[in-house]
Amino acid sequence: MDVVPAVATAVPFLDLRAGYDELRAEIDASIGRVLDSGMYILGEEVAAFEREYAEYCGCAHAIGVANGLDALHLALRAMGIGAGDEVIVPSNTYIATWLAVSQCGATPVAVEPDPATHNLDPARIEAAITPRTRALLPVHLYGQPADLDPILDIGRRRGLRVLEDGAQAQGARYKGRRLGGHGDAVAWSFYPGKNLGAFGDAGAITTNDAALADRLRVLRNYGSRVKYVNEVQGWNSRLDPLQAAILRAKLPYLDAWNARRGAIAARYAAAFTGLDLVLPGVPAWAEPAWHLFVVRVAQRERVQSRLSAAGIGTLIHYPVPPHRQGAYRDLALPGDGFPLADRLAGEVLSLPIGPQQDARATQAVIDAVRACL
Ligand SMILES: *Cc1c(COP(=O)(O)O)cnc(C)c1O
Repeated sequence: MDVVPAVATAVPFLDLRAGYDELRAEIDASIGRVLDSGMYILGEEVAAFEREYAEYCGCAHAIGVANGLDALHLALRAMGIGAGDEVIVPSNTYIATWLAVSQCGATPVAVEPDPATHNLDPARIEAAITPRTRALLPVHLYGQPADLDPILDIGRRRGLRVLEDGAQAQGARYKGRRLGGHGDAVAWSFYPGKNLGAFGDAGAITTNDAALADRLRVLRNYGSRVKYVNEVQGWNSRLDPLQAAILRAKLPYLDAWNARRGAIAARYAAAFTGLDLVLPGVPAWAEPAWHLFVVRVAQRERVQSRLSAAGIGTLIHYPVPPHRQGAYRDLALPGDGFPLADRLAGEVLSLPIGPQQDARATQAVIDAVRACL
């Protein structure tokens, strides 16, 4: 009989409020500093965050924008991608990765993942390249770095730009080096639930390419460098100084909070070995940020509802892949064209791994999972 033991602790999937409670003094002071400054668009607070985040990522430039989707979209625009172009994207990602390509008037061309890592499979990329392909857009999904070296090699050989979607991977390392300056640019989201999360929408692009950085600063600000002089048709997508100040307060804690996530991941991996589930595959060169801890289980709905009954919050990232969304009906993609993305969508289950989750809560998750597998 599979009876789930009653747990004393209800474990939320992610407790954002607990993150605020831990840093309340610093965050309140940062907000007060912005309110007192009288400077409410761009200004020194945004510039300071851009310097600090670029330094953290080990690269030359960071450009703050309004959100992660804009970071992706504007980075592609700054690379000159537009109508008629194709960009290689993963078949299994959050739809923002595809939408950024579509917003440029370009076409997302999906490539299936390596099922062990859930990340873009470099061995499948070249077959998807056509004369229209302009860029490769790997995603560091769930905080696991994608295998960048073979992807960058394809980019160099085929003359393609490489933009990375780092929305879920702040602080992750690939072959010992933090993400941020491997490809031509990395787009970041600071959506509240991300590893480095603002208290509203926020995003950024990092790059070592000075010309690209310069174009991005113009594109995010109405196409303007000098007030009321508009060089190009730009967007209004500036990082809010209140969010920049909050991010500055949180950035010094990012590594420590990622380490807590990593410790929870290690406890899960040890406790679940031998159970009838597939653990996240972590290549030797990867130091993940553990944004999500995603297992694959058969009968996922049954497991999820039993965990829910035991007070354990879980989510599915993501239940419907982009090729099956109404938003992409017009691409007329074959429904059965992406069997790996479909299979993952049917089996993935994300367990709680927030940085404020204590040892008792982690044990409660472990007990509940063990009781139903
Ligand atoms: C969160 C996320 C985005 C979009 O970020 P927003 O700030 O919500 O616009 C893009 N790509 C991935 C993989 C994400 O997880």
